[in-house]
Amino acid sequence: MERLLLMLEPGENRRLLEALLAPRYEVLLGTDAAALQQAFDLLLLDGVSLKRLRAEVEARRAAEAPLLLPVLLLTTRQEVGLATAHLWQTVDEVVLLPVEKIELLAGLEVCLRARRLSREQEQLRLALADSEARYRQLVENPLVGAWEADLEGRYVFVSRRLAEMAGYTPEEVLGMSMLDRIAPEQRPWLAARLQQRRAGQLPPDVVEAELVRKDGSRFTALVAPATLYDSQGRVKGFIGLKLDISERKQLEQELARRVQELEALNRQLAAANADLETYARSIAHDLRAPLRAIQAFAAVLRDEYGAVLDATGQDYAQRIVAAAERLDTLIADLLAWSRLGTAALVPEPVALAEVVDEAQRLLAAEIAARQAEIAVALPLPRVRAHRATLLQVVLNLLSNAIKFVAPGVRPQVRLWAEARQGRVRLWVADNGIGIAPEAQERIFGVFERLHGIEAYPGTGMGLAIVRRAMERLGGAVGVESAPGEGSRFWIELPQAEEPEA
Ligand code: ADP
Repeated sequence: MERLLLMLEPGENRRLLEALLAPRYEVLLGTDAAALQQAFDLLLLDGVSLKRLRAEVEARRAAEAPLLLPVLLLTTRQEVGLATAHLWQTVDEVVLLPVEKIELLAGLEVCLRARRLSREQEQLRLALADSEARYRQLVENPLVGAWEADLEGRYVFVSRRLAEMAGYTPEEVLGMSMLDRIAPEQRPWLAARLQQRRAGQLPPDVVEAELVRKDGSRFTALVAPATLYDSQGRVKGFIGLKLDISERKQLEQELARRVQELEALNRQLAAANADLETYARSIAHDLRAPLRAIQAFAAVLRDEYGAVLDATGQDYAQRIVAAAERLDTLIADLLAWSRLGTAALVPEPVALAEVVDEAQRLLAAEIAARQAEIAVALPLPRVRAHRATLLQVVLNLLSNAIKFVAPGVRPQVRLWAEARQGRVRLWVADNGIGIAPEAQERIFGVFERLHGIEAYPGTGMGLAIVRRAMERLGGAVGVESAPGEGSRFWIELPQAEEPEA
């Protein structure tokens, strides 16, 4: 409800007015300057009050600006005749005494309406200022440039960032044509697009453009243009945003170049590796022929000339046979490892459980000899692998697990698998002698062993084969161990779909 402040001499008039207005408005009564400080929407006063408080009323109206605070003067015809022109600075409406009810109410309503309008206008002004500020903030941001062009493609507005991208000031850019700012070879393309836009045929889109700076250098920008229509729906011009992406472009090109370099290097490396591989294999092959001769002749010496040799001679012959045999195993392992580098290994779904089973069968003699206990936690998932290679890997890990135990200790091996995010990890844990942390990487190298063959037989190729096999199968291998606390080797492979039940 609107509030009216009444400043009238006490008497009949005031009582009548109060009775008339109270049902329609919230009526406040006042006599002095202090009363003017309250919040109200309209002041109704008589000539006496106006004379007394004129300056205060004017100040109060000024303080309310830009909102209108209407003032209604209640006066006699004679008095109003005396009013000078400057009365209208303080008073918006005059109602003559004696009061005509309808006239008074109409006057009040007109004044209050004016106040409401002034309030709406002020709200509109604030909203507009708000929206203007938001628009400025957006348009004048330091990342993206904003522009507007007329039908010919001449800039009629550009943000500071837009001008700066090309090394200009905004003033310099105004009036320039977009066609003069684009690389010459893209001019026909842009002209065609402008033509399409003028015809209203092109929706807002995002394109990449080569632009020319003030100094003639070029840069690449991402441009998001749109057609601008007037209130009648006619094409008026173009408007859009622009982002300089030359840095990103350069980075992309640099990256592509690096990738190419790396790929070339990789090819060279692969070629060199293949050469080396072939070379090693042919050496290994060539070594085998004379080795066979040594083996054969030493065996003949031992078996057929045993009678003419004394005990020392026989011992030497036996040692030659044993050493030649060991060399043969070393070469065979080396060849196996080398073949693994180049063989085509086509992965297929493999049931891990079957592979583990088969490895146990192949090692049955050793398992029995050492009274080893093997516990497999079932079920084991299916993996994607090359079956024969995977079998070799499991064999190597399992035979190590039952081999590297302290004398007199009964080997206890546990196998289990974990499937996580499309990968399967198979663990092989033993109760063996363990591996010092500093040796845990080295043992995967070719011919790397931590013990003499007297204590633990072997060639030092088993784990090298495991690592290479896992690399070739897109898997991984690792170990967790501490001396005296057993070892937990793991291999990881891609999981395969389980077959339909
Ligand atoms: P090899 O078994 O023929 O000696 P490997 O390449 O399989 O060769 O292993 C390399 C070395 O890593 C072994 O000589 C041994 O010192 C160590 N090692 C491998 N497996 C185990 C294990 N389960 N426990 C303790 N040491 C191990």
